[in-house]
Amino acid sequence: MRAEALRVAIVGAGPGGLCLAQGLKKRGIRFDVFERDHAANGRTQGYRIRIDHTGQKALAACLPKASYALFQHTCATPAAGVNVLDAQLRDVSGRWVSAWRKTPSDADDADRCAHRQTMREVLMHGIEPNVQFGKALSHYEEGPDGVTLYFTDGSTRAADALIGADGIHSVVRRQRLPGHDPVDTGSICIYGKARPEQLVGAFGTEALHGKTSIVFADGMSVIMDAMSFDPSAFESSESSVRFTRVDDYFYWALMGTRAAFGLAGDESLSLGREDINTLVGQSAASWASPLRAVFECSDAGSMAIASVHQAASITSWEPNRVTLLGDAVHAMSPAGGLGANTALQDASVLAECLADACSDEASVLTGISRYEVAMRSYGANALAASESSARALFDVGGGA
Ligand SMILES: Cc1cc2nc3c(=O)[nH]c(=O)nc-3n(C[C@H](O)[C@H](O)[C@H](O)COP(=O)(O)OP(=O)(O)OC[C@H]3O[C@@H](n4cnc5c(N)ncnc54)[C@H](O)[C@@H]3O)c2cc1C
Repeated sequence: MRAEALRVAIVGAGPGGLCLAQGLKKRGIRFDVFERDHAANGRTQGYRIRIDHTGQKALAACLPKASYALFQHTCATPAAGVNVLDAQLRDVSGRWVSAWRKTPSDADDADRCAHRQTMREVLMHGIEPNVQFGKALSHYEEGPDGVTLYFTDGSTRAADALIGADGIHSVVRRQRLPGHDPVDTGSICIYGKARPEQLVGAFGTEALHGKTSIVFADGMSVIMDAMSFDPSAFESSESSVRFTRVDDYFYWALMGTRAAFGLAGDESLSLGREDINTLVGQSAASWASPLRAVFECSDAGSMAIASVHQAASITSWEPNRVTLLGDAVHAMSPAGGLGANTALQDASVLAECLADACSDEASVLTGISRYEVAMRSYGANALAASESSARALFDVGGGA
């Protein structure tokens, strides 16, 4: 099949789906992205996201050069290293999260911290006409010559291949791989952001600035990062991207088992923002005052809670015209910071496999099959690394 004859439907405009769209555009393959959100900024996307070497390599491969430079420029000022602390802010030795790297080999190799909404805007740049918002997939039908997509608004669309990039509760996965829903790990993640202008100097929080901090407390851990941006990156006259304004913020994510938070079952899912705020305050009540200050300087409105799910495994299946990428196929604990990076890797590998199949005049199935073989292998490694990171973060005295 020639590249220009192929039409790919991507469901989901998260990091994985949009990166794939960019990679296909670069290779002259036609695509459409269908996203259930009503607009690109129709919902809070979360805050900071750590993009490691793998994710950066995938973005560089899929984005045009100027967009990749824009991604780099709009990331926060890199942290100068990692503090490993206990809840009284004493240095801790012997505990680490193996999926993280302490020291990059050079500055170009360092992890970057992006603001999620900004990253979505960079990934959308140049493909806006091909991304349709307010389109929630309900199901699909696969035929010998293609796939028909059915949306909840009653519309349909035909494509040669369907890529489910629709996240952890993927509709595509439920139909493509029934029985492979990710399992609840029993842990939760609460995240939010503090106002840095209130933090600096006032509460002795200097120790938490400049470096990423991992704080190990019994049965739970906090990751903290000061997110400080170069305002000129968002106003560059060379870029036609109209960025949503982002002020500097101090990001934190608190992770642990439900038991460590004193929660039972699915109770966490029904908590309102004020309840979450109270839960955070109670959990940190005996911690050092700079840590409590971070939570106290955070608006309850900025806080969110998510239960942590993880794919049990990535088993083998017969390839067809429908495949999956990112959280839709290998949802993993955020403990390792690998979910989005692996989704970006999927996007880059899949774009390349489809393009190679086109240039070999092979079928779209050949491209999908090559992608799935590669993805199962590195995806399984990422799942294992995320599991071991979760153990390292939550287990008292445990390390990975
Ligand atoms: C607190 C927290 C911190 C994290 N930090 C990091 C980090 O630092 N680094 C990292 O690599 N990972 C991190 N992760 C994991 C990361 O967020 C996910 O792995 C990543 O977002 C997965 O990308 P995706 O494109 O596969 O799916 P998603 O980002 O979930 O995107 C899926 C998209 O599909 C859309 N969609 C869903 N259903 C439908 C439908 N039926 N029809 C149409 N559209 C649909 C959704 O609206 C969404 O836009 C973190 C996760 C959490 C919770």
